[in-house]
Amino acid sequence: MIFLVVGVRPEFAKRVHAKIEAEFREHRFLMPTFSGKNESVRGIEDYMRTSAVALEAEIAQLPRQKIARFAVVCCDSTLLTNLENEWRPHTVYSFVPVRQPDRVAPAGIPMIVNGILSDIRDKVRYLSRLLDEFSIEISRPTKAALCLPLRNFDSVEISDLIKQLSEPEKALALTSIDQVRREIEARSGYHTIRERGQNLGVFVRTDNVRFKTPGRELHGQRRLESPGGDSCSVHCRLAGVYRFGCPLMPGFHFDCDRSSGEPLKVELVGCHNQPEKRWKVTHANIFPNDYVR
Ligand SMILES: [Zn+2]
Ligand SMILES: [Zn+2]
Repeated sequence: MIFLVVGVRPEFAKRVHAKIEAEFREHRFLMPTFSGKNESVRGIEDYMRTSAVALEAEIAQLPRQKIARFAVVCCDSTLLTNLENEWRPHTVYSFVPVRQPDRVAPAGIPMIVNGILSDIRDKVRYLSRLLDEFSIEISRPTKAALCLPLRNFDSVEISDLIKQLSEPEKALALTSIDQVRREIEARSGYHTIRERGQNLGVFVRTDNVRFKTPGRELHGQRRLESPGGDSCSVHCRLAGVYRFGCPLMPGFHFDCDRSSGEPLKVELVGCHNQPEKRWKVTHANIFPNDYVR
């Protein structure tokens, strides 16, 4: 797994990084240093965007057959709003307010470093266990409730349920991933149908547009490649390929149509909020990041 640890100050980051990598040899850690609490909103946005780009580059470096999972450990509360607004639901994150005093004598640094390390260590263990569970859910083709495109499925209730899971410690305190999925299914008219000799999962939007899981074919796409490609922002690209830090099946998308077979007659929303009118056609492909094709 890849862990992006954000919010650690420069005076501690190097040592924490070296120690945590030595301890968890099976994982990779990215630890962009954070200049501190007085960062402007703009500064925070830049820091978090650069961090996302670094994460994406790290994923791209891996050999193709080795598909990464990832999560964020956030060490500074000023970064939480950005995580909530920009990183959900493609990434899972945990918040741990580590102690980073403003002034510390050189002799005091090792103690601070050890404190940060023990806080992060717990989160790493928790998140890596949890991502095993998420990846099982994400890879069940007919049960794609957790992968619904939030804008186009257009249900505040369902969008909230899905987004909550990005902050699992809060969301899963009283429930389980499986239960959240079943709750979404119950609220979205979920059922299965038999088509072309396979079982497809169907979710029904309030205007009766069906969101069908694509079955085995996935339209021939085999590679893990973001549907919108370079025209998309870094978060949109990540959301095209990942949900909750786990890889979607390559090419995974929903086939949208009406059960009557009539033309769609809908205005969908593209992944960058552009209107996507589908009037005369009977079918549209919508990816989990709301890319419409
Ligand atoms: Zn996009
Ligand atoms: Zn399709």
